[in-house]
Amino acid sequence: MPFILWYLYDKTVWGRLFMRSRTHLSEKQRRYLSKVFALLRQGPLLKAASYVLRNTCGKPNCKCATGQKHETPYVARTVDGKRHGRAVPKELRDQVPRWMERYQEIESLLEKLSEESWRRLEKDSRKTKSQ
Ligand SMILES: [Zn+2]
Repeated sequence: MPFILWYLYDKTVWGRLFMRSRTHLSEKQRRYLSKVFALLRQGPLLKAASYVLRNTCGKPNCKCATGQKHETPYVARTVDGKRHGRAVPKELRDQVPRWMERYQEIESLLEKLSEESWRRLEKDSRKTKSQ
């Protein structure tokens, strides 16, 4: 997946690919594809799970000492079976959820594109069988 996204993101490659294959795409596929490209142009993607870590800092006069724990947003991913978590820096806290949404939207559009191709294969193989 990351490779294909990188490949699709390359505008010059994409331009040629899209122009050439345009006629082989159904109306639905073209619609999904243009949504994918629109999303890719919007900004970064992030495949991650998010969670909030609640903890105390240890300072006796802090609000956390009375039960109002500090909340730190984290993102995590699994690499080679190991889970890696990262605190989201303050300056990125507004942006990171959008990165994750974008990844998920693209992923679901790719699923739909693939589904369309499967339908086409199934339709074609029915045709082949009946001939
Ligand atoms: Zn504290």
